[in-house]
Amino acid sequence: MTTVVVVADSRADTLPGPAREVTGVARAAAGSGGRVVGVFVGSAAAAAEFAQSGVDELHHLARTESVVPSNAQIAEAVARVGTEQKARMVVVNGTSRGRDLVGRIAVAWDAAAATNVTKIDLPSDEAVRASRPVFGGRATQEVELLGPRVVVSLKGHAFALGASSNSAAAIVPLPVPEGTPDQVVGFSPSGGGSGPELGEATIVVSGGRGLKSPENFHLIEELAQSLGAAVGASRAVTDAGWRPTALQVGQTGKSVSPQLYIAVGISGAIQHLVGMMSSRVIVAINVDAQAPIFRVADYGIVGDAFKILPALTAQIRKTRGSAG
Ligand SMILES: Cc1cc2nc3c(=O)[nH]c(=O)nc-3n(C[C@H](O)[C@H](O)[C@H](O)COP(=O)(O)OP(=O)(O)OC[C@H]3O[C@@H](n4cnc5c(N)ncnc54)[C@H](O)[C@@H]3O)c2cc1C
Repeated sequence: MTTVVVVADSRADTLPGPAREVTGVARAAAGSGGRVVGVFVGSAAAAAEFAQSGVDELHHLARTESVVPSNAQIAEAVARVGTEQKARMVVVNGTSRGRDLVGRIAVAWDAAAATNVTKIDLPSDEAVRASRPVFGGRATQEVELLGPRVVVSLKGHAFALGASSNSAAAIVPLPVPEGTPDQVVGFSPSGGGSGPELGEATIVVSGGRGLKSPENFHLIEELAQSLGAAVGASRAVTDAGWRPTALQVGQTGKSVSPQLYIAVGISGAIQHLVGMMSSRVIVAINVDAQAPIFRVADYGIVGDAFKILPALTAQIRKTRGSAG
């Protein structure tokens, strides 16, 4: 019987999309008769939601305002669960924390590791095959991870969400391993507004130099808010100081692969494309029909963002029946 441990975390009382992707992947990897054991880092409310995501058993590492387990402590706890459960593989969700955890778990659990994985096969007891994008998504690398223990992190939004179950798995409290917890010495919002975090969002609305000035960027933020989306930007926007660097998408910014990416007033330079072209559906709005962004777009609107954005936002608010 194959046992796969899945690791997910949330800073909120709800589950972000990537947290639910791990269970679907683990269930397929464990095969029929296999077991999926969860390790969840976050609040009790989010843990209760994760317990219904298709895991057979859930170990909960509590994260509260006063207790924030460090990544080293989380890795130690996951390694213990992996050893106790005689797990074949640990699957970590595709967040920035997840990528950091993979290396730490690999060391603590003495396992082979790969990050940003888009496909996993278990051809034998001795090897796990994983595929992952390289060179900014222009090639796919296939790696064979040898040995009895393997840990991988998933590329966010590359997999279907695990089916939620009506029955909740039993939740076992996991003691925080000894060590120094993270000390939060300061906190400054990145300016991304109140929406979801850019790297984890299911929908991203990004604006470029076509918005002409920082005062017009509210049109991007309003569309994002109406869709419950994260706001992104091209480097032209962040270099000009219209919006913070944390919102930059691309080669020297964040790589995102949401279900829906809306690029407004962005030409589609290769350095921008490598950070977003693995998005599931791409919509581009640009006055220039020859703009390279249309080569990767699934849907294109050739037109003026200043006319299209207010109309689109108003229509989405109307359809959703709220002020967004
Ligand atoms: C080493 C290096 C790394 C880089 N890394 C990044 C990166 O990480 N991310 C990134 O984004 N860039 C990056 N760049 C910069 C990149 O090459 C481009 O310069 C940048 O992406 C252009 O941003 P933009 O599309 O917003 O602006 P522009 O290229 O100026 O495009 C503006 C677009 O807006 C359209 N437009 C104008 N008016 C309207 C209107 N009213 N309505 C609708 N559309 C309109 C125009 O037709 C045009 O296509 C990098 C460059 C280098 C050299």
